[in-house]
Amino acid sequence: MIARCADCPWACETGSRDSAISALWDHRERAHDEQQPPMQLSSTTFREQALAAIRTLAETGRPFAIAEAHDLVTIEPVNPRTAWPAVTREAARLGFIEWAGSYADSPLATTKGSAVKLWRGRRRAA
Ligand SMILES: [Zn+2]
Repeated sequence: MIARCADCPWACETGSRDSAISALWDHRERAHDEQQPPMQLSSTTFREQALAAIRTLAETGRPFAIAEAHDLVTIEPVNPRTAWPAVTREAARLGFIEWAGSYADSPLATTKGSAVKLWRGRRRAA
């Protein structure tokens, strides 16, 4: 998927339609001082919010548990038990994150005592 700006030669190749849209808006905000219309925000899905939250944590540079992203997402997934692992796999497949090589106690009260994987941001291969 390639995102193209209508007003300049900027283009960006991304892994999915959603990341193409967010890359394009990121460019238009920076290069053309344009704000993303509210309509775009209200159409945000759980998946988009969750991926954005995971990327935010990845950018901190420290290892993190996916459960830490739960607080950053306002849309409740239909089935959290399967939705979060699916989004985690997608984030790893897109190259946003990689397993940090260790586990930690789950920060969620509902799954306290169980070990969860720690992830970290991954630099996208050129
Ligand atoms: Zn442009």
